[in-house]
Amino acid sequence: PDPVVAVVGRPNVGKSTIINRILGRREAVVEDKPGVTRDRVFYPAEWNDKTFTLVDTGGWESDAKGINAQVAAQAELAVAHADVVILVVDALVGITAMDEAIVQMLRRVRKPLLLAANKIDDAYQEPEAAALWGLGMGEPHPVSGVHGRGIADMLDELLKVM
Ligand code: GDP
Ligand code: MG
Repeated sequence: PDPVVAVVGRPNVGKSTIINRILGRREAVVEDKPGVTRDRVFYPAEWNDKTFTLVDTGGWESDAKGINAQVAAQAELAVAHADVVILVVDALVGITAMDEAIVQMLRRVRKPLLLAANKIDDAYQEPEAAALWGLGMGEPHPVSGVHGRGIADMLDELLKVM
């Protein structure tokens, strides 16, 4: 079976946008409001003749109590069945408590991981991506889901850890 790649991160960081960019079509639902993606959606994907399954995540209530724990639990479900994880962070917002909650969960799981520093639409924003070294999850890969910037490099790295 194809390797399963779970795309996780707090709501609104651009998970679905990145997935659409990888798929080359707008299939995953993108919204300005968090919580529109169903719990877990699977998409067959391909890069350099290698096929894999992308898993989009989301679907929690944004104003619920204990939201950080809920988001982390959602991500954990997706990650449990994954071979590789792409953690997406909004590099322009920087590290939030919810990102930290997800990172804590991912540390316990110990699966191969790529850190995507999203919303780096221009070269001058790259210092914002470097700040995500602070998560302690390795090298942040600056990407723009909207413009496609950095996605090819990130996918090359993905194939290496897959
Ligand atoms: P998700 O909740 O993590 O799946 O995030 P979405 O993919 O639905 O995106 C949330 C919002 O962020 C939408 O308004 C997107 O257009 C925007 N967004 C996603 N990726 C980028 C990016 O690379 N650059 C910018 N500027 N906005 C982005
Ligand atoms: Mg989404």
